[in-house]
Amino acid sequence: MDIIESGVKTGAKSGNGLIRPGAFRVIAGPCTVESHKQFEASAKMVQGAGYEYVRGGAFKPRTSPYSFQGLGKEGLKILSEVSRSLGLKSVTEVLDPADIGLIMEHAEVLQIGARNMANFALLKAVGSAIAGSDHGVVLKRGFAATVEEWILAAEYITAAGGENVVLCERGIRTFETSTRFTLDLSAVIVAKRLTDLPVIVDPSHAAGRRDLVVPLSKASVAAEADGLMVESHHEPQAALCDAEQALPVEALMGLRESLRPFAEAMGREVV
Ligand code: PEP
Ligand code: MN
Repeated sequence: MDIIESGVKTGAKSGNGLIRPGAFRVIAGPCTVESHKQFEASAKMVQGAGYEYVRGGAFKPRTSPYSFQGLGKEGLKILSEVSRSLGLKSVTEVLDPADIGLIMEHAEVLQIGARNMANFALLKAVGSAIAGSDHGVVLKRGFAATVEEWILAAEYITAAGGENVVLCERGIRTFETSTRFTLDLSAVIVAKRLTDLPVIVDPSHAAGRRDLVVPLSKASVAAEADGLMVESHHEPQAALCDAEQALPVEALMGLRESLRPFAEAMGREVV
């Protein structure tokens, strides 16, 4: 099916404040909530850098069943306690429809990860659970999904009543091995042309290496993205997940200044 011919135009609202006109939203934080101490230190970095949204996974979709799977419900408690005490809003991943209600109690924005982009039961369940609420959803692009499949996945959420859906480009799998995935910035522009949904970029999972995160972030602003989701950690080398791509404190602090001229050129303010 051709999405243009099918007339799909997913209804965006983003009235929950995650994305607003003229703003370039930065969501930052560790891959995973590891402990109260770790999440608090990492969330304070995000607050100190002046950002309003912190990320942190409690339920992690790990490639290997032997890798750290996240703290689950305990992680959600830490996420909400710490973020609320710091005045931050939070974004966390949902893996299982059974956890949606609990996650909505602890976080303002639900993330559907790349590995679940085509989990239609999850998309529908999230769409109906958030219907009429202020909760938002960040829908990552599957790393082997076309833009059309990605947009139609978003349509599953909105067709079920969900609003405040934000698309997130996080790299696709190609033959290239110098980066973890290949950041597909054309997809950002194409998705914005085809829908009225906001589109953000996750340069951290795309690159898989911290030295590329800032340059790819600048490129994302120029490619008309509405924001970023970046991984950062107070002790990147000690991170239990995705240590190689986490920005340390100085880099997170410097990101805003690095983005400023690009954001200004695009008529945006970094928030
Ligand atoms: C994440 O954001 O922690 C994550 C697992 O991302 P993705 O689904 O894009 O791999
Ligand atoms: Mn990660």
